[in-house]
Order: sequence, then C-alpha cells, then structure tokens
Amino acid sequence: MTSLSEFPSRADELRDRLQRVRDRIAAADRPAGTAEPRLIVVTKYFPASDVEILAGLGVRDVGENKDQEAAAKAAELAQLGLNWHFIGQLQSNKAKSVVRYAASVHSVDRLSLVAALGKAMAAEQRRRGGGGLPARPDLHCFLQVDLRADPARAADPGRGGALPADLPRLAEAVAGTPGLVLSGLMAVAPLGGDAGEAFAHLGKLSEHLQADHPGARSISAGMSSDLEAAAAHGATHLRIGSDVLGPRPQVR
Ligand SMILES: *Cc1c(COP(=O)(O)O)cnc(C)c1O
Repeated sequence: MTSLSEFPSRADELRDRLQRVRDRIAAADRPAGTAEPRLIVVTKYFPASDVEILAGLGVRDVGENKDQEAAAKAAELAQLGLNWHFIGQLQSNKAKSVVRYAASVHSVDRLSLVAALGKAMAAEQRRRGGGGLPARPDLHCFLQVDLRADPARAADPGRGGALPADLPRLAEAVAGTPGLVLSGLMAVAPLGGDAGEAFAHLGKLSEHLQADHPGARSISAGMSSDLEAAAAHGATHLRIGSDVLGPRPQVR
C-alpha cells in the first residue's frame, strides 16, 4: 500500500479510526435501558495483518462476506480466538466451510440455507468428536430481512434478504434445528432510502419475532454511514468497515 496517509503507520491509522468509531458509538442515542451496541469490525478485502492489529486494540468481533477470504484469515489468526461473523450472501454449498470458523451467520435468508447449516453443524460436531476436539458452540443465526419496497425488489432481486412475510417460517426452521440458535434479525438500509425509517421498520419486525421467540433479541443493523440511526432504533450489533479500515480497495 502506498503511504500518502497522514498516519506514520497502519497501526496508528487503525488506532485512530477505531477510536473515532468507538466514540461515535458511545455518543449515539439508543433506547432507554439498553446496552451499548456491539461493534463488529468488517475486515473484508483487508489483510489478516490488519485484523491482527485490530485484535491488539481490543477488537473481538470481526465480519467477513466471502467464505474463501474469511476461512483463510480465520485459519491464519486462529490463535487470537476472535469471533468471526459471516455477513455476506451464502451459498448452501459453503455452509460446511463456514461452520468450521464462524461464530455467527448474519445472512440467513432462506429455508434451504437453514437446512444446509444444520447439516453442516451436525457433520462438524461429528468431525470434532471423532478427532477428540472440543464440541463447537451452537451457530448464532440472524435472519436477514430485505427492507426494500416491492418495486425496488422487482428491479434487483439479487441482493439477499428474506421478505418480512417469510420471517416466521424461517424463524421456526432455525429454532427447530439442532446446532443453530436464533439470535434475531439483520438488515442493510436500502440504498437511497431513509435509514431511520428502515431501521424503525426492522425494530417492529424484531418485536413481532420476539413475541414468538423471546430469546431472539439481537438486531444487526448499521454500517459506517448510518450507525447512529441504527443505534437509535435498537441495534445490538453494528457492522462497521470503512470508517475503521479506510476505503476498501476497488479491485480484488
Ligand atoms: C461491507 C459491509 C458492511 C460494512 O460497510 P461499511 O460501509 O464499510 O461500514 C456492513 N454490512 C454488510 C452486510 C457489508 O457487506
């Protein structure tokens, strides 16, 4: 990386950026009586060396959106004991790999993926048992919701996220699958829309979900540009990438 930066080193840059994001989170309004949301630093496209620096700064939760990249980093940094959150669209055939390293999947959006994750968890438990390894904890599952209005969805169906109407069935499936825990909901604010409105909608959907699944209290919402709006509407997990790491490289 060429250094045109105001910072003497990458470590200084990450320390400074991380502190600014932590200060924003601490200062953000949130519903009365709720805890400060948990920061997940989204490290996609950035090297394992950055994740290592962040771990040294106290980061425990990191987010990745591609299995191949995440698996490699998680293997390289296994000794750090980080919580790896899978936040990207997930093909069912990657479930087997993801359950080897991920503490949670934030992008559960269809029944076939729930089935694949359940099967992969069962196989992973057998693998660990056979190898005399400790059992892995249950996989925390967030149901990803598509908060876009119908016309936007019709124009671009490929972004992931279940329709709000499909959440009850999906929730039942996760809750009924051994090895999976229903944590709550996840969403990305629709492009060009009002993030506050979107997250208010997500909060309502979370209330409905909790009526049937009282333990599913988590809300994963909020990115660099809209973390304050997410916190205001009860986000429990914030997924922050560029404001901690800097602009992502354009080419992979
Ligand atoms: C990349 C990504 C983020 C982080 O976005 P920033 O704008 O860089 O903070 C959050 N959530 C998801 C699902 C992502 O893919």
